[in-house]
Amino acid sequence: MQLKFKDYDKMSNIVNYLRNYNGPAVKIMEVCGTHTMSIARSGIRTLLSEKIKLISGPGCPVCVTAINRIDEIFELAKRHDTIIATFGDMLKVPGSKAGFNLSMLKSQGANIQIVYSAMDALNLAMNNKENEIIFLGIGFETTAPGTAVAIKEAAVKCIENFSVFSMHKYVEPALRALIESDDFDIDGFLCPGHVSTILGIRGFEFLVEEYKIPSVITGFEAEDILVAIYKILNQITGDNPSIENEYLRIVSYEGNKLAQNMLNEVFYPDDDLWRGIGVINKSGMAIRNKYSKFDAVKKFNINLDFVDKSTACKCGEIIKGKIQPDECKLFAINCTPENPIGPCMVSSEGACAAFYKYLRF
Ligand code: SF4
Ligand code: SF4
Repeated sequence: MQLKFKDYDKMSNIVNYLRNYNGPAVKIMEVCGTHTMSIARSGIRTLLSEKIKLISGPGCPVCVTAINRIDEIFELAKRHDTIIATFGDMLKVPGSKAGFNLSMLKSQGANIQIVYSAMDALNLAMNNKENEIIFLGIGFETTAPGTAVAIKEAAVKCIENFSVFSMHKYVEPALRALIESDDFDIDGFLCPGHVSTILGIRGFEFLVEEYKIPSVITGFEAEDILVAIYKILNQITGDNPSIENEYLRIVSYEGNKLAQNMLNEVFYPDDDLWRGIGVINKSGMAIRNKYSKFDAVKKFNINLDFVDKSTACKCGEIIKGKIQPDECKLFAINCTPENPIGPCMVSSEGACAAFYKYLRF
């Protein structure tokens, strides 16, 4: 059944079903950070039977960036000739030293500028030839094609003072690592809408073909998410795991080939460290040798540290779906959006920020 967007009669039937659901208890993970925020904002949890639990997953790029990488960024930011170009979300993310972040470095004189795309960072480089511009490449398959375009453009235009610190990541290896972990107990996935526009339905078929986990690709409106939960429950109760696409208005079977080709041309999969999860094989997007001039790791000899630095913050447990934000002892007491201790409280897509804003009382 493909529901029309804002089909109120069918929606009220679905909401009734979800409210009165009395089948087996299920845990459904929303992989995507924007889904986490949308679920919290729209109060979807209050519409569900207590037998349906929604769990946040590893879908916020800021939340999964290792503390080690944050510390390495701080070192880069201290270079006198350097401008760090970054998305705003990164400014308040603490590294291993409690309470210290890029925003503080900026107030101490480091040149840190907020940009809205990698191309903005490239333009910054073209307009500031006397400085090295290092763009912090954060995000999954959604944002990485934009970084790839900027790197290719820099190569064409022979821009010498532009490089990227790539912390971009692939979603599939993270989901595989999660599923293959000993204590995995998720019954279904809400697959990320934005990443699916790039990878297509095809990019998530492995969830069913290899792991038999009910999965639905969905958009970000409350209706989209409710229908997707309903479909996952139908797959579970009908013992018919499959990958369904509830985001037909955007997501195709093949995805965006142009963007996929762009990613493959500029990046290759390399082992990468995820906050709270550890190293996941072939999960990071490293810059190919062909574009090594634009790879900040090589250009500035960054010695990438792969030993996860743990802190009191429980973000790692949260992005693995093991605990909810309010189960962290620091939640809303020591850790708030004004004084975040971990990235899940900083990022606009973070589970702790969503809980703090909408579900605290
Ligand atoms: S980048 Fe888009 S798809 Fe990926 S987690 Fe964020 S919102 Fe979801
Ligand atoms: S409440 Fe703060 S310290 Fe606790 S897990 Fe969330 S971000 Fe980390």
